[in-house]
Amino acid sequence: MSVSAGETWSGAGLKFHGLSLSGVRTAIAIPELSMAFDVAQGYPFLLNLKNFFISHGHLDHAAGIPYILSQKAMTRQPRAKFYMPPSLVEPMTRIMRVWEEIERHQYDFDFIATNPDDSIPLADRHFVKVFPTLHRIDSNGYTLFESKKKLAPEYRNLSREQISEIARQGTEVTKTEETPLVSFTGDTQIEFLESRPWIVKSKVLMMECTYLDERKSVANAREWGHLHLDELIPLLPKIESEKIVLIHLSSRYSTREAQSILDSRLPAHERGRIEIYPGR
Ligand SMILES: [Zn+2]
Ligand SMILES: [Zn+2]
Repeated sequence: MSVSAGETWSGAGLKFHGLSLSGVRTAIAIPELSMAFDVAQGYPFLLNLKNFFISHGHLDHAAGIPYILSQKAMTRQPRAKFYMPPSLVEPMTRIMRVWEEIERHQYDFDFIATNPDDSIPLADRHFVKVFPTLHRIDSNGYTLFESKKKLAPEYRNLSREQISEIARQGTEVTKTEETPLVSFTGDTQIEFLESRPWIVKSKVLMMECTYLDERKSVANAREWGHLHLDELIPLLPKIESEKIVLIHLSSRYSTREAQSILDSRLPAHERGRIEIYPGR
């Protein structure tokens, strides 16, 4: 599998591969979990994955769905799952029917409507939870969680023998702890941030921040359902994430220019945890 497009980035103990540029392309994969957030126009690094979480139906995020399905059919892969806002399922199915007609091939696919607070189990100890975002069309954000069984706090001071004795008597000594590893926004206005309590607690917050300076006003960013750095800066103290990764930056900024704007505008103590996703 070629991974020639996109860049790799690591955080929350995971490796990501992808790229994001406003209005052009957004697709961020987590290959080890066989999943991706959005698919852009479809790239080689996406073709073997099993679970796709589509934030919304704009072409820079979702145009790749037919291409991925066609490539999967060609390589005889099992049916993949595409999670998406409910209103996208029917038109996207219609698009697939047209491609079936063009290509004279029947595709096997699962388009699954997802609503805020839905919980989608993945392999072993991971699952994805949906949160609401606010854009010009129906949109979802997604959080990848890890659930781990841990010794319940009331037993932590006991010896190994005591704990196994309690467990032998049939008492549950472990508690499941759910950790939000990564939240991904797709396109959204700033209000997503406080829509669910776990978002600001995600180890990595991968969020759109399309505009960075006065060349676009906050009002203009909001009018197009996007986010401006002016809105994010005052809310930084509320965000507990180890890393805030900015995606979907406008193409008016080169990465170098965007970095220098961030360096001059962010409070000094925040500069270390806020990064631009390297693939654009
Ligand atoms: Zn977009
Ligand atoms: Zn959009």
